[in-house]
Amino acid sequence: MYKLLKQEGRAKRGEFHTVHGVVQTPVFMNVGTVAAIKGAVSTQDLQEIKTQVQLSNTYHLHVRPGDDVIKELGGLHKFMVWDKPILTDSGGFQVFSLAGLRKIKEEGVYFHSHIDGRKIFMGPEESMQIQSNLASTIAMAFDECPSSVAERSYVEHSVARTTRWLKRCKKEMTRLNGLESTINPGQMLFGINQGAIFDDIRVDHAKEIAELDLDGYAIGGLAVGESHEEMYHILDVTVPHLPLEKPTYLMGVGTPANILEGVARGVDFFDCVYPSRNGRHGHLYTNHGKMNLFNQKYEKDSRPIEEGCQCPACRHYSRAYIRHLLKAKEMLGMRLCVLHNLYFYNTMMEEIREALDLGRFHAYKEEKLYGMGQS
Ligand SMILES: [Zn+2]
Repeated sequence: MYKLLKQEGRAKRGEFHTVHGVVQTPVFMNVGTVAAIKGAVSTQDLQEIKTQVQLSNTYHLHVRPGDDVIKELGGLHKFMVWDKPILTDSGGFQVFSLAGLRKIKEEGVYFHSHIDGRKIFMGPEESMQIQSNLASTIAMAFDECPSSVAERSYVEHSVARTTRWLKRCKKEMTRLNGLESTINPGQMLFGINQGAIFDDIRVDHAKEIAELDLDGYAIGGLAVGESHEEMYHILDVTVPHLPLEKPTYLMGVGTPANILEGVARGVDFFDCVYPSRNGRHGHLYTNHGKMNLFNQKYEKDSRPIEEGCQCPACRHYSRAYIRHLLKAKEMLGMRLCVLHNLYFYNTMMEEIREALDLGRFHAYKEEKLYGMGQS
């Protein structure tokens, strides 16, 4: 259940109540593809860096170790030892981007596993069954994410099928939540808006799925090659047609600047691999912009990555030491950088919520962008 606490312009400050606790929004979800954040980050670490929601990938967990195995072990929360909310994606995006030789039919998608090449079928019902086995807090609807450069006729056809799939997802989730063997009968379902960069298709689709009274609504198919301006424009035209009293989730976005612009346009939930992926390459986010720790100038720099930062890396270690670890390819170097970056994102979200509480989000956004050299 979502409670809208405050609005500033279109920006929303809310609370999302789940069976695994309350999520304060706007929130950044920390991406753990295979039930772990890449870079040797454990769920114990997540507790320390202010993570509210952990995101896991359905397709990856279905292929390995298998959702049936995870169900037998009591579900994803028990498996990875994390008692706060978990959002699982539908598997659709990975099927379309990773799996080989796929064939899309009305019933679903036929494809080959990227691990062992075996044939797999996934449709709306299968996606819901897998996510129910994983027992995540929030399940995502099974959809197709058409390319941002796809032809209009293809996008129209695809979006209509995504709506039919969404109705099947809702029906199947209701059925699964009613079964006695279901680990989390309170599992929630978010629908996904698609439509590439066609305003009218996006708006019509948003209106159509808004009527299905789902637990939340995502905007998918962005940050896949279109410009930032096109993405902001799609948010400007689409978000007003999604229910105000439900959370809005912008999938796979983005940079700190993208997030600030997304919040300004009414987005509650974000997720992105940037902080962990960049961290693993020694690229760090700070309030003064990005820094590359491989740079020679940090060789003898005894300061923390960012002065004043309370993350596990900055509280104890110097730029020089972490740079040395990265150059020596020690796992600890990556780990400390990922922890700093996720802490930076989670702290920015906390600042955003405080600014919204005080009615000064707009001023905060300008200051933050100016500090990062992006205004
Ligand atoms: Zn730090």
